[in-house]
This record gives sequence, structure tokens and C-alpha cells, in this order.
Amino acid sequence: MVMFIRAEIERLGGEYRFETRVEGFDMDGEGTERRLRGLRLSTGETLPAERVILAVGHSARDTFEMLRDAQVEMDAKPFSIGVRIEHPQSVIDVARFGASAGHEMLGAADYKLVHHASNGRAVYSFCMCPGGQVVAATSEEGQVVTNGMSQYSRAERNANSGIVVEVKPELDFPDDVLGGVAFQRKWEKAAFVAGGSNYNAPAQRVGDFLAGRPSTSLGAVVPSYQPGVTPTDLTQCLPAFVTDAIREALPQFERKLRGFSMEDAVMTGVETRTSSPIRLRRDRDGQSPTLRGLFPAGEGAGYAGGILSAGIDGIRAAEWLAASL
Ligand SMILES: Cc1cc2nc3c(=O)[nH]c(=O)nc-3n(C[C@H](O)[C@H](O)[C@H](O)COP(=O)(O)OP(=O)(O)OC[C@H]3O[C@@H](n4cnc5c(N)ncnc54)[C@H](O)[C@@H]3O)c2cc1C
Repeated sequence: MVMFIRAEIERLGGEYRFETRVEGFDMDGEGTERRLRGLRLSTGETLPAERVILAVGHSARDTFEMLRDAQVEMDAKPFSIGVRIEHPQSVIDVARFGASAGHEMLGAADYKLVHHASNGRAVYSFCMCPGGQVVAATSEEGQVVTNGMSQYSRAERNANSGIVVEVKPELDFPDDVLGGVAFQRKWEKAAFVAGGSNYNAPAQRVGDFLAGRPSTSLGAVVPSYQPGVTPTDLTQCLPAFVTDAIREALPQFERKLRGFSMEDAVMTGVETRTSSPIRLRRDRDGQSPTLRGLFPAGEGAGYAGGILSAGIDGIRAAEWLAASL
């Protein structure tokens, strides 16, 4: 499908520049009159451009720094961090469908869970992947980040989901607009070390996590993360407010979904890229208040979380851009 979208954009006159990064802006004017005139590219070229939709995704940390240095207005935004949890899909199917579990018309069951912890943080399931796998999602060297995905068939042995806890900029990094990036990096590096510094992810059995002891081996649930996992103590690579909140939430989730806190369920860390750690400000006409002609959009700009909402925000940005012509 992506191939067809690309072909259609090219047929309409669009051009793709692969392996090319926007590294700076040509601008003129001052303050609220400052205008975009061009894009400086990593190839050394400058592309004349007076209107640009900037949709760089939530992990474009180098670009966030460039935007901050160019005084494009932004705010630190809440996001969440935690772990991926894996159960046998059959356990989730029985908890959700009872005696009908396994019926071909039902397929693999999913779930959504939330708990408000006594430390004031919400704990919730994120990006639940029925019959899926836990995947490596770091974008920088020496760090480990988890994510999850399902194939169309949803037929892998395990169900997985992020179990994540709210991070609040005003409490956790109040003085730095890019403090969320530093916070993510700190725990992603700690996960790399806890995993053995070889891109294995650190993992812990739920039974061990709840008992407050490190895992030295895994049990019946075989984790899907590649290249592999290292049984360890996940408190080494997550803040205490996160592990405390998850420890409180798991027994609550068990009450809603029997088997959820089973001893051998595996938690793999760390899940840090749930959404963008920043929001680029935009005026009512969709443009940056400090750089006219720049239309921040999508997940990286802080206006979407997931494929659909990013797409919808892209349409909105395109409409704003068209209205400005
Ligand atoms: C493993 C995985 C599974 C996922 N599964 C789901 C799912 O099932 N459902 C769902 O809704 N969402 C899912 N997501 C999230 C989804 O992919 C994102 O929410 C969505 O892609 C965000 O779209 P976007 O266009 O805002 O940003 P992106 O898709 O991240 O696109 C940003 C693009 O900008 C490029 N870029 C960055 N900086 C620059 C620069 N300076 N110059 C030029 N280009 C630059 C990046 O290389 C990238 O190609 C998943 C994500 C991952 C990693």
C-alpha cells in the first residue's frame, strides 16, 4: 500500500529524498514576523521553501535540538514509560472469552487496562499486540527500547502490551524543555547495561518482580524479543515511581483479567517511546508562532499518538497550508 501512495504522490509531482535530513532553516524577519525561506539539507543543499509541514516523528532528537536552537517555540509534554509484558495468548483468550476461547470467529483477544496508583501516577496498557512480538526500537547506539507489533494473522504464541506509567514534566524534569529526551536516554542506557551491554533487553518474571527479587532464569513464557533477553532486576533501569506503580497495578489487573500477574509472565524493558516528549506550539492557523511558514504536524510535534491520529493531523496541516496560499 505504501508503494502505491508513493507512486501517486510522485505522479502528482511530489519528490522523495531518501537518506536526506533537514538540518536547519533559512529565515528572515524577527519575532512574530520571522519567516521560513528554505531548508538546509544534510546533502549540503538548501531547498527554497516558504511553507513546510514538519512531521519528524517522536524520536527525531537531533531535530528537536535543532528546533530548540532555532527558537521554534516548544513545550515539554507528558509521556509514559514502563515495560512490555508477555503472556501466552491462550491465557488472555480464556480470560476474555471464557469457554469460547480459541473459536476461529473470535481470533486472538486483546485488552485495555488502567489503574490509578497511590503515588498519583496512572498505569495503563499501551499498544496491546495480540498474537504478536516484542520488537527492538532504539534509534541510538548503546540503548535498549522495546515496542510491540502483530502480523495481520495475530498468530504468534504470545500476547504483549506496554505497561506504562505517566511521566510528568512539571515533576520529573521541570527546568528543561528537552528534559524528557534526557530522561528517556538515561533509562534506555540503563536498560542497555542491565541487558548485558550487547543489545539483549533486560527482562524479569512477574513473580520475581512482585516479590522484589531479580530473575535469574525464565519459566514457561518464552519471550519474543530479538536478539534476546537477560533475566535481571528491572528496578535497575526504571525510576522507582514507575516500578512502584506497576507493582501496585499488576494485582489489580489480575482481578480484571485472570492470569495477568501469573508468575511466569515476562516483563521486558524499557518502553520509553510512547509519544513525543515535546509539543511544538502552533497558532490557530497551524503555523509556528515563532517561525511563520512552518507547520508542525504528527506525532513528533505532539499532536498525534499512532498511525491514524498522525494521518488525521497531516490532513489538518495540509488544509492549513492550503489556506495560507
Ligand atoms: C514497532 C512499532 C509498532 C507500531 N505499531 C503501531 C500500531 O499498530 N498502530 C498505531 O497506530 N501505531 C503504531 N506505531 C506508532 C506509529 O508508527 C506512529 O505513531 C506513526 O508512525 C507516527 O507518524 P508520524 O508521521 O507522525 O511520524 P513517523 O512515522 O515517525 O515519521 C517521521 C519521519 O520523519 C523522518 N525524519 C525525522 N527527522 C527528520 C529530519 N530532520 N529530516 C527529514 N526527515 C526526518 C523520520 O525518519 C521518519 O521517516 C508503531 C510504532 C512502532 C515503532
